[in-house]
Amino acid sequence: MADKKNEWKDKLLYAPKNGYDRLSAEEEAEMNAYCEDYKMFLDRGKTERLCVDYCVELAASHGFKPFEKGMKLAAGDKVYVNNRGKGIMLAVIGSDDLSHGTNIGAAHTDAPRLDLKPRPLYEEAELAYFKTHHYGGIRKYQWVTIPLELHGVVVLANGESVTVHIGDKPDDPQFIINDLLPHLGREQGKKPLNEAIPSESLNILVGSRPFSDEECSDRFKLGVLKYLNEKYGIVEEDLISAELEVVPAGKAHDVGFDRSFISSYGHDDRVCAYAELAGIFAVEKPRKTAVCIFADKEEIGSEGVSGMQSQAFDKFMGDLCEMQGVSLTECFSHSFCVSADVTAAYDPNFAEVYDKRNAAYINYGVGLCKYTGAGGKSGASDASAEVVGKLRKLLNDGKVFWQMSELGKTDAGGGGTVAQFMAKRNIDTIDAGVPVLSMHAPYETVAKLDCYMTYKCMKTVFEKA
Ligand code: MN
Ligand code: MN
Repeated sequence: MADKKNEWKDKLLYAPKNGYDRLSAEEEAEMNAYCEDYKMFLDRGKTERLCVDYCVELAASHGFKPFEKGMKLAAGDKVYVNNRGKGIMLAVIGSDDLSHGTNIGAAHTDAPRLDLKPRPLYEEAELAYFKTHHYGGIRKYQWVTIPLELHGVVVLANGESVTVHIGDKPDDPQFIINDLLPHLGREQGKKPLNEAIPSESLNILVGSRPFSDEECSDRFKLGVLKYLNEKYGIVEEDLISAELEVVPAGKAHDVGFDRSFISSYGHDDRVCAYAELAGIFAVEKPRKTAVCIFADKEEIGSEGVSGMQSQAFDKFMGDLCEMQGVSLTECFSHSFCVSADVTAAYDPNFAEVYDKRNAAYINYGVGLCKYTGAGGKSGASDASAEVVGKLRKLLNDGKVFWQMSELGKTDAGGGGTVAQFMAKRNIDTIDAGVPVLSMHAPYETVAKLDCYMTYKCMKTVFEKA
């Protein structure tokens, strides 16, 4: 038997290989081109609203039309629905009718950030600040002393809405949250990381020039309001009917001498949303209808009208089904969904929180997660062997590099995605996505190879599942 050892090893052992040992030169060129487009997507889509705006622009340029119930649709036609400017759904109509089901890619385009409170503006010690309430899971100490941008909408008293975008253009001012100097940080330094920067201290410095009348009270607050009024027509009460989001400033950048990584704000989950988008754009006349949904609110539990639990998705799919005389439940029961969301990449600096035999690795391709959840799979939809087997076969047949992935050690923590809300609709669903370093940090890092393989995964699912 000894002479056949390698033959048996090759046959029996699962031995994943680094993607760079398998990638062709042609694929590498395509990967680099794909990542340039993806970086543009990151820079244009700093918030869920900006993401949707850019998706609509890209969809229109790829032949997608706004969906209207009752419109005439044939195989190969492309439509989208803009859900309140905060979420978007796209479909390419298949040649099979919807009773055969659809192939769905579900991602989310909201990302952890700081939202302004309804009454944000105050002054203290002749400095003007905005108070914030953080959105999603952040490590608060990471958000101090970094440049910040401000984006969003303000609905004025007359019902008109104005958009605010400050900090992303070369001549724009930016914003900052200050931290204690080390010289005076002795007591702060003794606190646990999670307590050193309390939420109520995440106050953004927005001005220090007083209103000119020295007799006036609230001169520093008024100085800021005067600017907002002159520039946007805003008065203080208008800030109550506003969604103003504070996000890290700066553009997506290549990282490493070899440029193998991209660092940026918001990879979670724009890296999977863009993979889906590019995937559905590449699909022409699929057999089954291909559907993309970019949900909002995933980072706070997929709640709300723009979240994955909203019936906005059922309405769009229901309308499509009704137009073909197919029941929605019939369509869902034959559908297949990849819940495309990021997973944690193994980080040797923090090896203790990973099970290294089940972790996702940088440059090993798209990470498939049978289950997410926390401590005993709680909250996970836990894909069946059949569903994992189906995606595994599809990806192997399509020569897409993939790996299995678990989000950290069983007892280390956990996380969820939109998968459970798709599964609840009686849709076979599995999680798959890009492994990320420093997930939820102001600047997250991903590998270009894994971004590209996630795109290939989504394209394969839309074309072949
Ligand atoms: Mn996510
Ligand atoms: Mn997340």
